[in-house]
Amino acid sequence: MKAACCRVATELGRSLLVLLDLVYPRACSLCDRELWIWQEGPDAFRYLCPDCGRRLATIEAPICGVCGRPLGSGRGDDLRCQACRRRRPALGICWMRSGFYLKGGARELLHRFKYDGATWLAGDLADLMGRCISMAEPAVRSRWDLLVPVPLHPRRQRKRGFNQAELLARGLARKWGMELATGVVRRHQSTETQALLSAAGRRLNVQRAFSVRSSKAIAGKRVLLVDDVTTTGATLTAVARVLQRLPEVERPRRIGAITFARGGF
Ligand SMILES: [Zn+2]
Ligand SMILES: [Zn+2]
Repeated sequence: MKAACCRVATELGRSLLVLLDLVYPRACSLCDRELWIWQEGPDAFRYLCPDCGRRLATIEAPICGVCGRPLGSGRGDDLRCQACRRRRPALGICWMRSGFYLKGGARELLHRFKYDGATWLAGDLADLMGRCISMAEPAVRSRWDLLVPVPLHPRRQRKRGFNQAELLARGLARKWGMELATGVVRRHQSTETQALLSAAGRRLNVQRAFSVRSSKAIAGKRVLLVDDVTTTGATLTAVARVLQRLPEVERPRRIGAITFARGGF
């Protein structure tokens, strides 16, 4: 009886989506090809066609086991990039992964999402990111307890109307069945537009940008930070640093980081 009810509900849901497609036609965000639910498989994205989805530049193995940087070559379990061999892992972050290179379609999708306010892409972007990261690390859900998005400066968030990292983290939390904690960290300074500062000034600016607002959700937990993009890892490191500086009872047990894309190549 229950199975029959579920089937009816699924069919009803599908009929509604078919109706929705007729009233509000969907198109692929990259190639503009029309998308129709009756032609799609169960893994289909909402606003991206399968061909464009396949063409995105995925970051694949071999990758550094610490900072997630793609490596030209390498084999074995202990893969580390030159920077991670030279120094200890970036303070506080013991594992880091990104889904895509910040170029081509991945760059364009992120740009539309973030700067053109295409928030309807959040679900597809989280899905893409989740598939990529689970492929590299299938145990992600059992290795981490909760997702913490990197906050925006409140003024920037008011202007944009949303925090892209939070929307991605929300989508991933749903996909992976994980907890999400917002409001853990506060951002004091905007670090996105600091091109006029010197390298040292930029580092200092990022280091001072965050403070902990509430450690209740993260104490003793394995925390996975989420951001849309990383280049040097400075922002994620700065967030990890303030969490690591908490008194021992409030500190997370372990900190990792994931991003949709990685730039700077
Ligand atoms: Zn397409
Ligand atoms: Zn590395």
